[in-house]
Amino acid sequence: MKLRHWRYDLALRHSWAIATDVREGAVTGKSVYPVVFAELTDSQGRSGIGEGSPSSQYQESHATVAEFLGQVNPDRLSFDDIEGSMAYLESVAPGRYPAKCALNLALLDGAAKAAGRSVHDYLGLGFSEGRHVTSFTIGIDSPEKMAAKTAEAVAAGLPVLKLKLGGPRDRENFAAVRGAAPGAAIRVDANAAWKTPDEALRNIEWVAEDGNVQFVEQPMPPQHSESDWAWLKERSPLPLIGDESYQSAADAEACAQRFHGVNVKFVKTGGITAGKAALEAARRRGLKTMLGCMIESSVLISAGAHLAELTDFLDLDGNILITNDPYDGVQTRNGIMGFAAVATKTGLGCSPVANLPTTSRTRTHPPPHGWVHSLSGNKNAPLLRAGHFAKFRT
Ligand SMILES: [Mg+2]
Repeated sequence: MKLRHWRYDLALRHSWAIATDVREGAVTGKSVYPVVFAELTDSQGRSGIGEGSPSSQYQESHATVAEFLGQVNPDRLSFDDIEGSMAYLESVAPGRYPAKCALNLALLDGAAKAAGRSVHDYLGLGFSEGRHVTSFTIGIDSPEKMAAKTAEAVAAGLPVLKLKLGGPRDRENFAAVRGAAPGAAIRVDANAAWKTPDEALRNIEWVAEDGNVQFVEQPMPPQHSESDWAWLKERSPLPLIGDESYQSAADAEACAQRFHGVNVKFVKTGGITAGKAALEAARRRGLKTMLGCMIESSVLISAGAHLAELTDFLDLDGNILITNDPYDGVQTRNGIMGFAAVATKTGLGCSPVANLPTTSRTRTHPPPHGWVHSLSGNKNAPLLRAGHFAKFRT
């Protein structure tokens, strides 16, 4: 087996910030988000592509992903034995989930392609077209900019918004988003910003007054005691979804006491195999299930969409938040995700974009297949534009 991996800098359409980017009342957003792609090719010529999206929230970076991938002996990986391959990766080092995620996706992409099936069929899950709606996330910014981002999302036909709270101007921000999207269902994500059960409850009660908020994600830090969480869950007028508190299937029992549902992400579980287990473990305990993402290309977003049948809520918008997606994959129209029109019907359903923008400001690795690592650098790029973003048109 051959393993190639490379860094790629995803360019954000708008500066991106969440509660953990707020320091001393100031918001520091990102404009570039490095991810790592991994490609496996075996001696029979079978191949698979994967992606890891490392987050500083979990003390990961493109460098920690590359370091782990550099330690992997690819001869220990096989498209015919994904379980054994993942067990080998566990033996290389604990944690390092974004790197394990990249390899797990590549293994499943290759295995499903070799079987002539899509990943969702390969896993026995199927996929119902026309039913799976993703939310679209509005990061923390000034009220004016959040209103403008919301107006773009509404114009693009995205029906469900996820609003990041935990900044210094939450009330103005919420009002700005609601003003720009009077009819949209809103999900709120505090990213652990509210420090006490009292503060969290006050904020949840305020948010609930809106009348069209579906749930609140991770109101407090995961370190709070079970009794604090039980107190909040009992009183909360809105369902509570655990994200930072839910790393993997092993947390399902604890989260069933603290939350009404959980948010699974491949950056936490280390890929599709463990993500599927985390969704199934949550459902067995009666929890609602959500599948979320980081800033990601269509490789990781497509991987998530293949598990849609195991979810109640999707938050797979990472590829809509960027301007230089190097892959085509699952398509999102009016917020509805589908595989019906993808060019590649097997595996993850992803194929390289042929005509990426060529303006290059960052080149960190020789580009594979003649691709150019590129940044459009256009902060004013509309949410929908010509070229490969036509896939988001209605
Ligand atoms: Mg979250």
